[in-house]
Amino acid sequence: MFAIQHLKGNTYCINAPTNIGLYKLNEKDCILIDACYPGPITDELLETLEYHHLHVHAILNTHGHIDHFGSISALREKYHSIVAAAPFENNFIEYPELYASLLVPFIPFSLNKNSYLPKGTKVEVLLEPPQCTIQDVHFDIVSLPGHTQNHVGIATPDNVLFVGDAFTGEPHTERIKIYYHQNISDAIDSMRFLLKTNYDLYVPSHGNPLTAAKDIVEKNIQSINSTIDHIYKMLSKRPLSTDEIVSAVNTQFNIPEKFVEYYIAQSCIMSMLSFLENTQKIQIVFHNGTLKFAV
Ligand SMILES: [Zn+2]
Repeated sequence: MFAIQHLKGNTYCINAPTNIGLYKLNEKDCILIDACYPGPITDELLETLEYHHLHVHAILNTHGHIDHFGSISALREKYHSIVAAAPFENNFIEYPELYASLLVPFIPFSLNKNSYLPKGTKVEVLLEPPQCTIQDVHFDIVSLPGHTQNHVGIATPDNVLFVGDAFTGEPHTERIKIYYHQNISDAIDSMRFLLKTNYDLYVPSHGNPLTAAKDIVEKNIQSINSTIDHIYKMLSKRPLSTDEIVSAVNTQFNIPEKFVEYYIAQSCIMSMLSFLENTQKIQIVFHNGTLKFAV
């Protein structure tokens, strides 16, 4: 069973592998911000809610990644909860197989085939800035694109902002070797934007809640820049193919030799290569039919 941490006023955090925001409407009814992976983690979440006699009135989603929406269909089946997500991100909740297509644009290999995908479920409410109102309770919707195309932060009336994966908190900042952001420039802009906001607490989906985001945001940006520099230095020596870059980075950071981890690492590295190419620091060249990246 997961612990439930009181943050401020009616705002709590369920300490699951993905931090889940919990806003109590009364002793029984609550609104969740995000959900977690499908499978055993969802079972543990349901057990936690049952133990505390909580009824999930609605679920607000920050973005369409499986560790944020994987439990939604099970929660909805049990509680008939209202599901809300930002436009574009809603598609992943409705058609979870789209998430698999992000990693591999073909039918996944037989390893773990689709075993990690939940059922799709309807999203009734689209989250658009500046606010979303449910049961007369107003939540701020803060646009934080970059990690995904239309990623949002969601703040409760207690001035607690759940930032999703806009940045990662401690202790994960040390542990995560390569950060994934679909669009690195937008992700860094979103992090810098957060520094201008004035919430009492910032809750990353992975990591501890913070009263000030500055130090951890700087650490996130520094880590992204240092991996990009590392890739740039490798390419300065000679042009390299995607596989050569992924292999070098995976070896350097000891990324486990597993199917899903490989494709996640590849996505992280490709988004960095795209950033370098879009800022004209590297270019795409072809050698005997192989696509390579060169300085
Ligand atoms: Zn994510």
